[in-house]
Amino acid sequence: MHSNTRASASRQSVAQAAVNTRVIQELDAAHYLHPFTDSKALASHGARVMVKGEGIYIWDSEGKRLLDGMSGLWCMNVGYGRKSIADAVYAQMQQLPFYNSFFQTTNVPAVQLAAKLVEISPPQFNHVFFTGSGSEGNDTIIRMVRRYWDLQGYQDRHVIISRHNAYHGSTMAGASLGGMSGMHQQGGLPIPGIVHIGQPYYLEGGKGKTPEEFGIEAASWLEKKILEIGADKVAAFIGEPVQGAGGVIIPPATYWPEIQRICDKYGILLIADEVICGFGRLGHWFGSEYFGVKPDLMTFAKGVTSGYVPLGGVLVGDRVADVLIEKGGDFNHGFTYSGHPVACAAALENIRIIEEEKLVGRVRDDTGPYLKRKFETLANHLLVGAAETCGFVAGLNLVQKKAASLHDCRLFDAKLDVGMICRSHMFNNGMIMRAVGERMIIAPPLIMAHAEIDEMVDLIRACLDMTLADLTQRGLMPAPAQATENI
Ligand SMILES: *Cc1c(COP(=O)(O)O)cnc(C)c1O
Repeated sequence: MHSNTRASASRQSVAQAAVNTRVIQELDAAHYLHPFTDSKALASHGARVMVKGEGIYIWDSEGKRLLDGMSGLWCMNVGYGRKSIADAVYAQMQQLPFYNSFFQTTNVPAVQLAAKLVEISPPQFNHVFFTGSGSEGNDTIIRMVRRYWDLQGYQDRHVIISRHNAYHGSTMAGASLGGMSGMHQQGGLPIPGIVHIGQPYYLEGGKGKTPEEFGIEAASWLEKKILEIGADKVAAFIGEPVQGAGGVIIPPATYWPEIQRICDKYGILLIADEVICGFGRLGHWFGSEYFGVKPDLMTFAKGVTSGYVPLGGVLVGDRVADVLIEKGGDFNHGFTYSGHPVACAAALENIRIIEEEKLVGRVRDDTGPYLKRKFETLANHLLVGAAETCGFVAGLNLVQKKAASLHDCRLFDAKLDVGMICRSHMFNNGMIMRAVGERMIIAPPLIMAHAEIDEMVDLIRACLDMTLADLTQRGLMPAPAQATENI
């Protein structure tokens, strides 16, 4: 077919496909390469077509309603269907849809948002650099911290220490900072000057220790790495307060203060990647406040606009900003859409909603503790070895045979893909819960009331029952008498 004919045929089918799932799925398979997806496998069964969102629910093109336990992708903090954000975006688009901030110019929403972010962030932050995404925020941070040391005459001080199983985005630098082995295997990563230490995952590495002891031990790996490289070569340490994509890895309370102490001891910059933990997810504006640490730089994205429009950026602490501004001259870095007025208008309205509805305090004092109580009851399920929450993120571990502690449970063979089996039961029954190996995770919208938390946890339990029945039928569970001993 001639390409013009093909294009007009596609347009026609798109119009019809507003109500035709198959047509959309076929066009999707023919033309749309999805992120982090095996396109061939997806084409064989077709993507689920999402068409509408309201509150904590989304609907697919077949009219099926799903409770969105993942807030889109960790971002829908204020939930779907907020007309006031749509209105703010519409008004800004009519007033000034775009202008750049490169050439001695600025725009009103970007300035107002920068001031607002300074107001709600810890006192060491007085400056903001805007990007289009979290990945670009982390790229920006690499350039900033290296420039910070260069300007002070430390040209060798360029190494950044991160952690295995961290997620810091998908650009070359973001994926390098991240510690996802699957990503590092593709495209020649990591780029030079980035090294990784172990993650503070108590359930994985803490056998025979208290969480407090393990937190100190996991932090000590940073000091070991600094001494191995030479402190005069280490620019910064970066971490998510709670690792999100890695599987909601909640560090012991001792971990972050010890990381802070080590960074301070060697004068190393501390970077908090707040792309998930920021904007109320842990019951504070930023996750580092929850853990009581004082980062020099913070990456943000996702919750800053609740995903309504793409936006990311970096909060730059005084220690770094003072050097960059006083000694730096031109900073040769930036994006066309840095400080995009429409994105900033969406963020301002999103933050106004978070404040008006007191979502941060509600998660800290009310709904967060309530979710904890409810979610942790799932630990008594036959299939669950541990269930834990932190603010509005939560994770549970599927196990083949329970024991008093997860460290003693019998785990499933990873090849069985039990997490994906469980995820399918969740999806098919109207619950969006993500699988990371055998760990099932959620990060629900912050607007949930108690009744919605009840509904969600009941739904998760029902889906765990179906998963258990399914696994039993497949012969993957031990006989009942055997399964219940030791509980
Ligand atoms: C999603 C995420 C990123 C990347 O953000 P993008 O907007 O997808 O580029 C970076 N860090 C963390 C912790 C994230 O969860």
